[in-house]
Amino acid sequence: MAGTVLVTGGSGYIAGETIRQLLAAGWNVHTTVRNLGREAELRALLGGTPESLKFFAADLMADAGWAEAAAGCTHLCHMASPLPSNAPKSDDELIIPARDGALRALRAAKAAGIRRVVMTSSMAAVAYGHGGAKSRFTEADWTNVNSPDAYAYVKSKTIAERAARDWVTAEGGDMEFCTVNPVLVLGPLHSADFSTSLEAIKKLIEGSMPGLPNFGFGVVDVRDVADMHLRCLTAPDMGGERFLCSGRFLWMKDVAAILKAGLGEQARKVPTRVLPNWVIRIAALFDPVVRQVLGELGNERDADTSHARQKLGWTSRPEEQTILDTARDMIRLGIVKV
Ligand code: NAP
Repeated sequence: MAGTVLVTGGSGYIAGETIRQLLAAGWNVHTTVRNLGREAELRALLGGTPESLKFFAADLMADAGWAEAAAGCTHLCHMASPLPSNAPKSDDELIIPARDGALRALRAAKAAGIRRVVMTSSMAAVAYGHGGAKSRFTEADWTNVNSPDAYAYVKSKTIAERAARDWVTAEGGDMEFCTVNPVLVLGPLHSADFSTSLEAIKKLIEGSMPGLPNFGFGVVDVRDVADMHLRCLTAPDMGGERFLCSGRFLWMKDVAAILKAGLGEQARKVPTRVLPNWVIRIAALFDPVVRQVLGELGNERDADTSHARQKLGWTSRPEEQTILDTARDMIRLGIVKV
């Protein structure tokens, strides 16, 4: 038996895949959800038994439930954090739950005697607010939250990761804390309740974009993100570690080409025309979601993943497979009509 791990946010996309892999590897899992009424639905998706997978109610914004969830655990995977598809009214809507929730999970972990913590941070905490000048990033880089390009989600992930690291340094004792910092996470879906990260693929397949904006992102498969978390739970000497978790950087036009080549007729609505930047700037005047990512137009952000490859023996699968598996599941589950 590997141990008992608390995975926060068991209703989430990455948490779901991580819990499935943990159960398959022989771990017992405690998981938090905001609404315990979802337990039966989630059990059907996650597997396990009432003994190997236990649910607890806890909200990032309140103290209730965290101590019970952490009791009896040896490890913590802190994954819950808000990832909305719309632009929030204020930055604090995301910053406060991300930061205070991480601290609640850490305090509960310490009180329960947990000594190994893996937190899901993000490339959002690494590569934003540097202007277009810098295009290759390592674990040494941090997002500049004071830049106008740092929007609410980017700030929330940076501030939460920094607050967690500061807390562990000051209060963590012999706790070993590390982060996994993924780029855009795609891959297989087990239900129609999907993460915001999959929106771009949905929009491309359903043809709801008039053309291809000059945006790009690093892509990584949810199965490989979960695998990196499992490696971080057991690898030696993880104190203070940080791991970028990424496959190749792809422009929207590259993603569209992969969909066209792999899906054939099912990709007939995927646009092929690249939109000039001025069209996106005009769209941003009317659409707050486009407005908040405007600073990303034309920005390339490559992640150097040599640290994870060397220290953890981690590898990532081809992005083509990830993108096509995402698309095929969206079609299968009726999320998109082709
Ligand atoms: P997701 O499917 O939206 O999952 C987010 C989880 O956080 C859900 O379980 C959600 O619970 C929970 N949550 C949000 N606000 C909460 C609150 N106030 N109290 C308790 N739980 C709350 O997103 P995901 O893609 O799996 O993301 C998981 C983690 O990976 C997040 O930390 C995210 O920042 C990070 N990440 C994601 C990506 C990506 O591309 N997906 C990339 C880098 C990093 P409900 O179901 O109750 O809303």
